[in-house]
Amino acid sequence: MTLAQILLEWYDLRGRDLPWRRNPTSYSTLVSEIMLQQTRVEAVLPLYERFMGRFPSIQVLAAASQDEVLTYWQGLGYYSRARRLHQAAQIIVAEHDGSIPHNKETLRSLPGIGDYTCGAMLSIAFGKPEIAIDGNLLRIGARLFLIQDPINRMKIKAQIQAKFKELVPTERPGDFNQALMDLGSAICLPKNPRCEECPISHHCQAYFKGAVLALPIKDAPKPPVPVQVRLYLVESQGAILFRKREFGGFLQGMWELPWCEIPSQISRTALKVAEEHNWLSPKLEPCDPLEIYEMEYVFSHRHWFMTIFHYNVTDQFYTPKEKDTLYLWQPIDAIDEIALPTVFKKALKMRP
Ligand code: SF4
Repeated sequence: MTLAQILLEWYDLRGRDLPWRRNPTSYSTLVSEIMLQQTRVEAVLPLYERFMGRFPSIQVLAAASQDEVLTYWQGLGYYSRARRLHQAAQIIVAEHDGSIPHNKETLRSLPGIGDYTCGAMLSIAFGKPEIAIDGNLLRIGARLFLIQDPINRMKIKAQIQAKFKELVPTERPGDFNQALMDLGSAICLPKNPRCEECPISHHCQAYFKGAVLALPIKDAPKPPVPVQVRLYLVESQGAILFRKREFGGFLQGMWELPWCEIPSQISRTALKVAEEHNWLSPKLEPCDPLEIYEMEYVFSHRHWFMTIFHYNVTDQFYTPKEKDTLYLWQPIDAIDEIALPTVFKKALKMRP
């Protein structure tokens, strides 16, 4: 039997029963695969059905407001995925008559569709012999093919992908990919791989050579860059001030507590320039903050060292105006209604 036949037989017996695998459509595959990017199945399960209940078709998703989409994404993190999924839905409805394209280049050009999601869509939704390569598959590939170079190098990733592509069957390519996904999550585990239960151990070169635990090899990731951040927690009459920037890079498009990064070589001029990008500080200057808190938060590429200025502004209740930026006074007891990144939820918990 070929490796593909063995794997498919195992998948028929042991594959996970997941809601997006029951009566799948190209839309349900798109939503689930984008939700599963860098997120565990267990975290996606409770939110997937809620999301699909509210946005049962690509047309409904495209017609929804971005705020509502983000609200239904709460709990999954990486909100840029939700924004891009929403944009992709709008493009598919406007330019492709609501049908998700199955041409590789067109699909790959849609917002939020990277190599992995494109491979998953083509194989699972459209039955094409493609491979969806992610960290799990790279790990399996490094072991299966005895790849002793770092798997986070593009060249090595391409090498593993090419080797898998030689194995993908023309019949049931989607199930082949999903079988590999299940193998990565239940059998070929990072720390304690269960080789004795592995259906493809007879094909696994690392298993034969006793090199399983030494693989995969990875280059050490770069540590997050430390950044000083000034953050403003402003209350007035039972509401808190939030902003949303349409442009501006990091965290754009999200509701956030107003913040600015402080240049590391701090000087009065540099601070002033930084604060001019943040209208708030001069407006608040006449008041004394209620409290000042210190907090740290680590993103994947940034390590924020935050100073949080907590103001209670009793004598003014204004909504600032700024180009491409929305401001919102949200009642404290209704903060859950807006999609807020975790860093700001934690900052809000500093309030007494
Ligand atoms: S034999 Fe072990 S290392 Fe090889 S694919 Fe199976 S679980 Fe992974």
